[in-house]
Amino acid sequence: NMGLILITHDLGVVADVADKIAVMYAGRIVETAPVHEIYKRPAHPYTRGLLDSIPRLDQKGQELFAIKGLPPNLLRLPTGCSFNPRCIAAQDICRSEIPVLQAVSEQDGSELPGRHSACHFWKEQIHG
Ligand code: SF4
Repeated sequence: NMGLILITHDLGVVADVADKIAVMYAGRIVETAPVHEIYKRPAHPYTRGLLDSIPRLDQKGQELFAIKGLPPNLLRLPTGCSFNPRCIAAQDICRSEIPVLQAVSEQDGSELPGRHSACHFWKEQIHG
């Protein structure tokens, strides 16, 4: 009966110990989800990038995936979505409007408890 907050860059570690995950980028929460949901269907490109960066035994000998670029200077964040200079899914709106953390739902509109994403294109990410 003890709560634990684990802060890590390694999503492979949290899979074994966490019930809920909050993914942060540049000081903001960009995705929340129950632990097994996030591994199956991430709703934010940064989460997807972190998951793709986990080395897998079936990819032995292949080049490891890495999210391009570097984390931003927190004193000079990019306009719009802070992740946009590194995001492979970025579009014009991403460079001008900050995406708010919003509830994520199934395609039929039914609720996905505990799931939120701060991405303008979360639907494409989770359902695409
Ligand atoms: S809002 Fe745009 S730049 Fe930010 S994560 Fe989503 S697609 Fe990428």
